[in-house]
Amino acid sequence: MQFTHEHREIQKTLKRYIDEHINPQVDEWEKAEIFPAHEVFKGLGELGLLGLTKPEAFGGAGLDYSYGMAMAETLGHIHCGGVPMAIGVQTDMATPALARFGSEELKRDFLAPAIAGDMVSCIGVSEPAAGSDVAGIKSFARKDGDDYVISGQKMWITNSLQADWMCMLVNTSDGPAHKNKSLVMVRMRENGKLVKGIEVAQKLR
Ligand SMILES: Cc1cc2nc3c(=O)[nH]c(=O)nc-3n(C[C@H](O)[C@H](O)[C@H](O)COP(=O)(O)OP(=O)(O)OC[C@H]3O[C@@H](n4cnc5c(N)ncnc54)[C@H](O)[C@@H]3O)c2cc1C
Repeated sequence: MQFTHEHREIQKTLKRYIDEHINPQVDEWEKAEIFPAHEVFKGLGELGLLGLTKPEAFGGAGLDYSYGMAMAETLGHIHCGGVPMAIGVQTDMATPALARFGSEELKRDFLAPAIAGDMVSCIGVSEPAAGSDVAGIKSFARKDGDDYVISGQKMWITNSLQADWMCMLVNTSDGPAHKNKSLVMVRMRENGKLVKGIEVAQKLR
């Protein structure tokens, strides 16, 4: 693929942010086994880098996916694996379905702050007994009036120690395993505190 001047300018902006705000701290974050996701994401959000391919109506740049690829390539300059993974989860795993299929209300409450870098997100698919075999997940969302009551457990979830919300894969009926699933937006933390009903069991090394 040939990058244009605009692709290269985005890469330069991101590379400068990585050199100034991420790489100098990587050793310290590795030692601490955690990095300040809200701080790093806010910086990226202010540069417009968390919404390159997202709709302009919610703060994105509305660009095509080649710009997302240019960004992903530049994330390779980060001197560790966890931080680029965390950023990639925010831009390309937790938010794409929300941007494409979410209601205006959901996009306002969850997508816009993720693009701005005000919220950290995660994608909850894997479970203790369902990794590659995604159809085998057991988490269940049962309708109760206007609410869903969700029971379940997720595991190995990138960003989950800091995330404000999870895009969570659940079963919504007992029907066929490839047709009974939905992605549900679940608020995990408010003002940094876990909301009632959410438990984080342990940090996995
Ligand atoms: C660093 C990291 C971050 C992660 N972040 C997230 C996250 O943010 N959200 C999330 O939902 N999950 C996350 N995961 C979980 C990840 O998606 C699962 O680890 C993955 O789906 C594999 O599942 P598993 O580990 O249970 O392995 P298994 O599914 O048990 O697979 C074990 C081995 O068997 C092989 N295998 C499995 N099925 C078959 C088959 N049918 N045919 C041939 N070979 C097969 C696999 O290739 C693998 O080598 C993360 C994992 C890691 C390591």
